[in-house]
Amino acid sequence: MAQRCPRATLGGLSGEVSHNHSSREDHCRHQSSSATVRVRRVTDCLFCKIVARQIPADIVLETGRALAFRDVNPQAPTHVLVVPKAHHENAAALAAADDGLADDLLTACHAVAVQEGVAEAGYRVVFNTGTGAGQTVFHVHAHVLGGRSLTWPPG
Ligand code: 5GP
Ligand code: ZN
Repeated sequence: MAQRCPRATLGGLSGEVSHNHSSREDHCRHQSSSATVRVRRVTDCLFCKIVARQIPADIVLETGRALAFRDVNPQAPTHVLVVPKAHHENAAALAAADDGLADDLLTACHAVAVQEGVAEAGYRVVFNTGTGAGQTVFHVHAHVLGGRSLTWPPG
């Protein structure tokens, strides 16, 4: 039975999200480049484990509420995954959280593109949402793809 987390506060710089607890969730504290933040973590989630540094990844950028790391199976010369540190299942859940986190994630995507040197030539941001669209990891992530000519429509 889910219970409202008494530690939750709304948005702001803390990185915390108002939420409920289930048995699969806990909290973690970790250092970001700017501050110590507390985020919702799901214990059996691959990307939560990368955020918590329990699984290694090639991290290219970290902000207060987002982490960017290279995709293990790159589909372009630049293929970086940008994830919120807080667990949300997909883009719809992220948008529904309505705490500015979706904005932060898109800002982080552009920062990655600039850092990777693909912003001027053009890059693609993809949120696979649902199994039919190819989502395999259910912690929302933006694919930032660039460094080659990208065709449309995608496969
Ligand atoms: P999706 O298919 O959910 O849109 O994207 C998941 C992405 O995560 C895939 O592109 C896949 O290659 C990548 N991926 C899966 N496992 C790992 C991992 O352990 N580390 C990293 N860096 N990427 C992963
Ligand atoms: Zn997660």
